Amino acid sequence: MNPFTYERASDPQAALRLGARSGAKYLGGGTNLVDLMRETIEHPVMLVDITGLSCAIEETDDGGLRIGAGVKNTAVAADRRVRERYPLLAEAILAGASAQIRNMATVGGNLLQRTRCGYFYDDAARCNKRAPGSGCDAVDGFNRMHAILGASAACVATHPSDMAVALAALDAVVTVEGRNGLRDIPLVDFHVLPGDTPQTETVLEAGDLITAVTLPPALTCRSVYRKVRDRASYAFALISVAAALDVQDGVVKEVRLALGGVAHKPWRARAAEAALMGGPASEAAYRAAAQAELAPARALRDNAFKIELSQRVMIDTLLKLTALQENRS
Ligand SMILES: Cc1cc2nc3c(=O)[nH]c(=O)nc-3n(C[C@H](O)[C@H](O)[C@H](O)COP(=O)(O)OP(=O)(O)OC[C@H]3O[C@@H](n4cnc5c(N)ncnc54)[C@H](O)[C@@H]3O)c2cc1C
Repeated sequence: MNPFTYERASDPQAALRLGARSGAKYLGGGTNLVDLMRETIEHPVMLVDITGLSCAIEETDDGGLRIGAGVKNTAVAADRRVRERYPLLAEAILAGASAQIRNMATVGGNLLQRTRCGYFYDDAARCNKRAPGSGCDAVDGFNRMHAILGASAACVATHPSDMAVALAALDAVVTVEGRNGLRDIPLVDFHVLPGDTPQTETVLEAGDLITAVTLPPALTCRSVYRKVRDRASYAFALISVAAALDVQDGVVKEVRLALGGVAHKPWRARAAEAALMGGPASEAAYRAAAQAELAPARALRDNAFKIELSQRVMIDTLLKLTALQENRS
């Protein structure tokens, strides 16, 4: 591990002042950053400890919920308002990591956790994300976990967060404070595709501090988070689906779909949503929508199964949500 200094920020303004220094990084729960420092993948010269800041979950005027960036993942998933109004979010968080990690991990850190691509973690391998311009050993390497949508020749890594996939489906907004003041960024625009610069993972600028994630008023329909992984727990997603569906008289009135484990960012399935809205709530329609979403998918040597898997899980999830709604009415 490289030498670094440590400062504890007493409030967000102090955090911003310290975070503006060259080589500084914010420290949330440390469950990703400290690992990366130990592996000598990240080399901050200063850690700005922001634990204890922005730790409230509050109602918003329009009936939504504002979750402070410092709230622990466990606390979000356990919050009664989240469980009742945004069960999709609670399910996604509980599908991730382990109880001990969720007890430490923060909302801000979860959004900014880095890829689990093995070549990114292996400093003997070529990785454009870790060492821009060095190449990508994943493209022709062992790439079973890697991206099928939105990848580039420079990078085929995926974003590992479960929580962020649910937030993408829920139209969440990330609040950020930085040099140029406060700004709100829709979660779907917060992470970026790799292109030629995979070292850039979000629209954040140096020193920016995430202060909150805001959820709009809750959907009135059923929702669910489905995660497919190699082990039943404590494993990252091969693929995941965050879905919400409202069917009235056999017609789709509202649908939200986002995919995890398929791209460099949480993947909002806009093509599938557009194909479904106002159409029949039938298996054939669900299949056509899933196919439309995955039409641009490109497989690497080891991950072609993810294309079929994503479609099947989307279709099955929509059918299950339809059945749940039929049973209720
Ligand atoms: C063994 C293991 C298994 C895991 N499995 C899963 C899984 O299945 N699903 C899943 O989703 N996740 C999983 N995780 C990842 C885990 O969710 C993340 O490590 C955690 O969410 C990161 O949060 P943190 O607060 O500890 O972030 P930190 O490690 O403290 O920080 C991560 C990054 O965010 C930055 N940062 C933190 N807070 C802010 C802020 N407010 N503003 C600006 N920058 C900030 C830091 O500078 C750093 O760059 C796993 C982790 C481990 C170790």
